[in-house]
Amino acid sequence: MLIGALEAGGTKIVCAIGDENGNIIDKKIIPTESPNKTMPQIINYFRNKGIEALGVGCFGPIDPDKKSKTYGYITSTPKLAWRNYNIVKALHDTLNVPIEFDTDVNTAALGETISGALLDCEIGIYITIGTGIGVGVCIEGEPLHGLMHPEAGHIILRRLKNDNYKGICPYHRDCFEGLASGPAIEERWGKKAYELKNEYEVWELEADYIAQAIANFILCYSPNRIVLGGGIMHEEQLFPIIRFKVKEYLNGYINMKQILDDIDSYIVPPLLGDDAGIKGALRLGRLASRNN
Ligand code: ZN
Repeated sequence: MLIGALEAGGTKIVCAIGDENGNIIDKKIIPTESPNKTMPQIINYFRNKGIEALGVGCFGPIDPDKKSKTYGYITSTPKLAWRNYNIVKALHDTLNVPIEFDTDVNTAALGETISGALLDCEIGIYITIGTGIGVGVCIEGEPLHGLMHPEAGHIILRRLKNDNYKGICPYHRDCFEGLASGPAIEERWGKKAYELKNEYEVWELEADYIAQAIANFILCYSPNRIVLGGGIMHEEQLFPIIRFKVKEYLNGYINMKQILDDIDSYIVPPLLGDDAGIKGALRLGRLASRNN
């Protein structure tokens, strides 16, 4: 059986065909532009490929509640062309296959839970730091939903005394994403992240905000492990500083050896690399074929 997988991110969209065992057979990357430009390319890719179901992991916020009137919509996204766009309907009307729909980060958390760094975790968290900041949570192998889904990239953090940058989030200004996303780094320092590689000051500040967020997630969700992915986390010098600062912020309060003695195996990069999202989307597609 062939299954379609779609990972729609802030800057690029990954379309793939896979099998029911989770193997990716073919993959294509297209840039995220407006729905008018991008959707026909997505539909052309999947059309006539013989897929029997489709899994969609999408940048959000989205409405993943099948009982809701706005199920399948991308909702209050800062990407204006996609705001209130019903992506599930557009795909279903043209491809006519069952679809499962979730956030891109919940999908990446699912991918890492099935066959990556969150395998065997009762509660696993996937954080992506890139164009935006997103947080996916899987509990016992299921992506977490509730009122809608976690949007923990927009939590409020304690601003550092030496940081006068105003923040870039159009909704909250200096939330986590507003202070620590790729565009925030670029606007604060006047250069792109990869041009700042040797500037320790940049990464110490960045690591501090990420560590604050992680300390909060540990306190809220009690995860068994945390994966840190996304373009900014390709700056691997961040990992040791983040781990050190997480311990500092928790200050011994969470008295668990995974954090106190073995934090290198507790806060980790994705095992599936940049494939976590598309592997998770493939699993969603398989669920769609079963639920149909
Ligand atoms: Zn925000």
